[in-house]
Amino acid sequence: MIAAAASRDGSSAAVMAGEAPLRERGQREVFCGLTGIVWLHRKIQDAFFLVVGSRTCAHLLQSAAGVMIFAEPRFATAIIEERDLAGLADANAELDKAVDQLLVRRPDIRLLFLVGSCPSEVIKLDLTRAAQRLSGKHAPKVRILSYSGSGIETTFTQGEDACLAALVPTLPVAETQPSLLVVGTLADVVEDQFRRMFSALGIDNVYFLPAHRDAEMPPVGPTTRYLLAQPFLADTARALDERGAQRLAAPFPLGAEGTAAFFGAAAKAWNVDPTLFQQVIAPAQERAARGLARYRAQLQGKSIFFFPDSQLEIPLARFLSRELEMQPLEIGTPYLHRQHLAEELALLPPDMVITEGQHIDRQLDRCRAARPDLTVCGLGIANPLEALGLTTKWSIELLFTPIHGFEQAADLAELFARPLLRRNLLVA
Ligand code: SF4
Repeated sequence: MIAAAASRDGSSAAVMAGEAPLRERGQREVFCGLTGIVWLHRKIQDAFFLVVGSRTCAHLLQSAAGVMIFAEPRFATAIIEERDLAGLADANAELDKAVDQLLVRRPDIRLLFLVGSCPSEVIKLDLTRAAQRLSGKHAPKVRILSYSGSGIETTFTQGEDACLAALVPTLPVAETQPSLLVVGTLADVVEDQFRRMFSALGIDNVYFLPAHRDAEMPPVGPTTRYLLAQPFLADTARALDERGAQRLAAPFPLGAEGTAAFFGAAAKAWNVDPTLFQQVIAPAQERAARGLARYRAQLQGKSIFFFPDSQLEIPLARFLSRELEMQPLEIGTPYLHRQHLAEELALLPPDMVITEGQHIDRQLDRCRAARPDLTVCGLGIANPLEALGLTTKWSIELLFTPIHGFEQAADLAELFARPLLRRNLLVA
C-alpha cells in the first residue's frame, strides 16, 4: 500500500546551491509503483495490467482507481496466496491459467503487463521468464511484458518508469528520417496541444511514448531525439540511450517558462528559425502569463515545503518560485537525477534547500518547525499535518491532473492556490 522502506541507496542528500550535500537515511512514506497503473491504463487503451500480488495490492488498486468504477477495468490482481510457497511450479501454472482465462474473457487485450509486487511469494516468481513463456503461447495476438511495481523497489511514479523501460526494447526500429519522441504519460489534451505546437514549428515525425495503442508504439533508433516530459524516467531514458536515441536536455514543460524552454530545445535541435519560434510560442506564452497573474496575487510570498514523493518536486519548485514568487523552504525528492534535472537546478534560486531520499521523522520535525504556508506531501501524512494546522496539497493529484504545457499553467497554479483558499475560508 504505502511503501515504508529505506531509500534505495540507504541515504539521502540535500543540495544547497552548490554546497556540500546533506545526506539523510531512514523510512519513507510514499505509495508504491503499482499506483502508476491508474494513469497508464487510461493512456494505453488496449493494454491490461495484471498485478501479481496480494490482497493488499488489490485493495490499493481498487481504492486508488475507485474513480474508474464506470470504466471497463483494464487492470486486475492475480492473488498469489501463501499456499503457493509450497511450490513455484504450482504458482507458475496458476499464473499461466489466470492469464489464459483473462485473454479468453478479454479478446480486446493486445498488450499485457505482468506487474510484480512485494510479497515474498511473488518475489520468488521470475516474471520476466513468465512473460516470455506466455508471449510464446499468445503471440502474435497479444504481447506480454513484465515490470515491477513493488514498494520495495519503486515509489509511485517509478511504476511508470519501469513500465516504459520494459516497452523500450520492444519498440520498432526507427527509419533514417529524424524523429522527435516525447517521453512520459501526458493527458490527451496536452498531447494534442504539443502536436499542434511542434507542427507549427515545422517539426514533423513527432511521437509520444506511451502511445494510445500497442500497434502505434513509436519507432526508436539513432535518428531519434527525445524530450523527457516527466522527471522520473531514469530507467526509460537509459533504455532509449541503449537504442541509440539522443536526449535533448531541457527543463520540464511545467509553467510558461519551462514549456517555452522545452519547445526551445526541440526548436534548436531542428534549427527552427528564431523568428518563427517566437511567432509560434509568444501567443501561448502570453496567454499562460495572463492566466498565472490571477494566482500570483494569492501565492506570492507564501512559503512551501515539499516532502519527497512524485519526483516532480524540483520542476514544481522552479515554477512556483520563478513564476509565482512562492518561497520553497525545503524541496524533498525521492531521487535526484542530476543530469536530467541540470537545467531545472540551474534555474532555481541559489539558496534553495534540496533533500534527496527521506528520513520521515526528521523531515516532519523540520516541517513542523518551519510552519510553511503550504506543504506538498503524500496522502499518508497529509491528515496529521492538517491536524497540526498546516495546509497540505496531495502530490498524487499532480499525476491525475493535466498540468503540462502553456494552456495548463494556470490550472497548475490553481492546484496550489486552492488549499490556501480553503484554509482561509475555514479560518474566516
Ligand atoms: Fe503494498 Fe507492496 Fe502491494 Fe504495493 S506492491 S500494494 S507496497 S504489498
